[in-house]
Amino acid sequence: MHIAIIGCGQLARMLAHAGWRLGSNFSFYAEEGENTSCVEGLGNIVHAADVVDVSGARPDAKKLFEALGQPDVVTVERESVDTELLTELRKCCAVHPCPEGVHIAQNRGREKSFANELGIKTAPFELINNDTELRSAIEKIGFPSLLKSCEDGYDGRGQWKLSGAEDVEAFLSSEGVKTELILEGFVSFEKEVSLISARSSNGECAFYPLTENVHRNGILLRSIAPAELADESLQATAERYAEHMLTKLDYVGVLSIEFFVVGNELVVNELAPRVHNSGHWTQAAGIASQFENHVRGISGQSLGSTKPLTVAGMVNLLGLRADTLDVSQGNVQLHDYNKSLRPNRKVGHVNAWSIDREQLDAQLDEYVQLLYPE
Ligand code: AMP
Repeated sequence: MHIAIIGCGQLARMLAHAGWRLGSNFSFYAEEGENTSCVEGLGNIVHAADVVDVSGARPDAKKLFEALGQPDVVTVERESVDTELLTELRKCCAVHPCPEGVHIAQNRGREKSFANELGIKTAPFELINNDTELRSAIEKIGFPSLLKSCEDGYDGRGQWKLSGAEDVEAFLSSEGVKTELILEGFVSFEKEVSLISARSSNGECAFYPLTENVHRNGILLRSIAPAELADESLQATAERYAEHMLTKLDYVGVLSIEFFVVGNELVVNELAPRVHNSGHWTQAAGIASQFENHVRGISGQSLGSTKPLTVAGMVNLLGLRADTLDVSQGNVQLHDYNKSLRPNRKVGHVNAWSIDREQLDAQLDEYVQLLYPE
């Protein structure tokens, strides 16, 4: 099976690592200026300049399909892709996940509306296109609230917390409304969790246990799974929500959903139409990883087990290597993405697992301390 991935980051790298083991081979599409170090040596890389004409318009789908080596299936490793190009590519080969799913997840307004239409709760929100709309959104949502760009904001970028009228004025005078924004009511959550779900082309769905996530400055720092939940029925609730979304979209591949836990409710924060940073621990849990299940799902195979036998966790390497950690311990797995260092850049992660949750929790805490002592 030849799989082409739109994108050349670490998720593409880990999808290829998992897929090679399953007998697949890969090619990659790099947009203009995209760094390709993560996927070097893992398959042919097609650069935008090879397939885009001088007008700089979107590449011709047929030309791209040929340049990619006539893949059996095209997939994505990020949501910011040209979904019209994905739709065009569908005339040449299978495209998973569906462009509709990617389109929804590209925009915070669309993904929240999609969830709400299925009866799934999100933070209250208002969409904003100009200063006047921001003022009237504040009237409805109140303080505290979070202002976010609807598209292209990730890892805490393009977000402003508004605690009072002075923050609104400060935002308007410094930034102003330049692109579509969303104002979200601030959710006082107990925990942040995520569900990695997968669906195969024959409609089979599988779900990993909910993962508990800790962020720092809007960037994922560490995860542990299964999440410790006061109300254990939340796992079933999350699975029900995911299955509803997957079947509604006839989605194939991995879909990741981030939730806030508020009492006995789950509030959707974000959807990712792809494998997700909070699911990296699945590589170290003795089961089919999220990467393997994405490859299995999109290549028409049945899904592998998602039920880990141990507790597993992950700490991200943000702008640094794991030099301060003892990664020689038997329960540790180091992943390096072959990226150069830049502040806060995700350059790798460390997975660990144990049958003793407390011990693993302490180990992950220690790693966070050693890596980020400030
Ligand atoms: P996001 O980019 O939407 O995932 O936001 C990054 C982080 O900001 C989340 O992981 C939360 O910790 C926090 N956050 C985002 N939206 C909200 C919200 N509506 N209420 C409270 N915290 C939020």
